[in-house]
Amino acid sequence: MHGDHQRPEEQSVPGGQALACSECQVGLQEYLDGTLAKKQSLRIFLHLRDCKACEQSHLSLKNLFELLGDLPQHELPADFDDAILASVPYASYLAMEPLRRARVPVYLEEHFLPAVIRSQVTRLAGVGLSAVALGAMMVWDGSPWLVAASPVAIIVGVVPELLVRMQGLGRRVIALGRAEG
Ligand SMILES: [Zn+2]
Repeated sequence: MHGDHQRPEEQSVPGGQALACSECQVGLQEYLDGTLAKKQSLRIFLHLRDCKACEQSHLSLKNLFELLGDLPQHELPADFDDAILASVPYASYLAMEPLRRARVPVYLEEHFLPAVIRSQVTRLAGVGLSAVALGAMMVWDGSPWLVAASPVAIIVGVVPELLVRMQGLGRRVIALGRAEG
């Protein structure tokens, strides 16, 4: 097939038989890696010296290896995580919702509190009751039942608002801890 050059098979080769082109091609990568046995490496070296076709393959492969070796080592961009998150489809994000919710203790879930307590009306009325009771206690002193009832009313009044706020706070603390961890 290469009529313009001497057939390497006809040469006498130190260390063994001359190499066929196919055998040379198969060994080229290891030849470049330097992982071939000395004898085989020498056979390829001698074949390349005399075979233009294989020498051409050898040069191409060598150039490719050098090109790969010269590629700059890229660091991950600082916003790599954000970029990944941004590329996650919103549907997948929603599908993960049960996993996220499972990590919030049940008593911090909004539905853990009865709807009556969570309702805006109850919370406002409770706070109003506390305010009235507090005012009554400060304005009218003397009436014994008022003195006894006011502190109770103040405490009971703020309970719904307090519960809802503490739940929200608990969830925020957990969300913060997760963002940091
Ligand atoms: Zn060859």
